[in-house]
Amino acid sequence: MIIVLKPGATEKEIDHVMDRIKELGLTPHLSKGQERSIIGVIGDDRLIANQPFRAIPGVEDVVPILAPWKLAGREFKKADTIVDVSGVKVGGKKLAIMAGPCAVEKKELTVGIAQEVKAAGASILRGGAYKPRTSPYAFQGLGNEGLDFLAEAKKATGLPVVSEILDPRDIEFFLAKTDIIQIGARNMQNFELLKEVGAYDKPVLLKRGLSATIKEWLMAAEYIMSRGNKNVMLCERGIRTFESQYRNTLDLSAVPALKELSHLPVIVDPSHATGKWAMVAPLAKAAVAAGADGLLIEVHSNPECALCDGEESLKPAKFKELMKDLKKIAEAVGREL
Ligand code: PEP
Ligand code: MN
Repeated sequence: MIIVLKPGATEKEIDHVMDRIKELGLTPHLSKGQERSIIGVIGDDRLIANQPFRAIPGVEDVVPILAPWKLAGREFKKADTIVDVSGVKVGGKKLAIMAGPCAVEKKELTVGIAQEVKAAGASILRGGAYKPRTSPYAFQGLGNEGLDFLAEAKKATGLPVVSEILDPRDIEFFLAKTDIIQIGARNMQNFELLKEVGAYDKPVLLKRGLSATIKEWLMAAEYIMSRGNKNVMLCERGIRTFESQYRNTLDLSAVPALKELSHLPVIVDPSHATGKWAMVAPLAKAAVAAGADGLLIEVHSNPECALCDGEESLKPAKFKELMKDLKKIAEAVGREL
């Protein structure tokens, strides 16, 4: 941490700042310049970050040297994290493709889609049992019964499953019936929910908030990790911008940015990013080319009758075609599918 002093800071003011730093158990190093002076602080940045140092007379700014996220950051851990999802590795050379319906509907339909995505090469089945819908009148999901159907689909195909949690009171269902707990965009800063999933070692897929900055997103990951759960994966799913031609704007810059700042696996969801099935394949390819560790793609055998997000769901045949194209892109960037 560096504390930048105002050009006219008096000796008395500087001494007071030095004393405040020492009171926190940190070591200040004063460097006097012609124009202005700065104080370098050795010790845990967080002790100062939590204090209103800018309120002290003579202080102009407080500049952190280390990132505010510790556990999620590359500064803390250089090597890429590989999350083990019931035997499927996410974050290594092989790409993790999570595919399935937006919402779990009928049991047979869910098992059928699971078989189709598995045959096309997906490694994880997705499906929402508790749905965070904008309208309270829209289909809210089957709830716990939906998790049972996912468990049936897992039994039939061997695919681990990912599903979104909305309420910390449902945690036991998710621990028993899913392999990854998804925190959706709308709950990225639901801190109590983050703390709850942080208390176990069950892998967590943390989606980017609707208008969240990368910093806010990594701090949300930090909430989970600081509770002990290190199995966090980040999922870019588009952000709100002025553009209204598609549902959201897929921020592919987030992929290399996160790779530099964090060691956590990065997944891209082109389905919720666009809301349009015809845009899913081009953006899925771009995401792999940009260095994503995996994709989250909505697939439905009959999108026009889907209870949720049919407009952005790929039919199994289109998904299969996409997987073939992705294989070539993966090879070109040194990855496997
Ligand atoms: C989902 O993946 O089912 C979902 C609701 O996505 P998001 O939270 O990104 O909107
Ligand atoms: Mn959806």
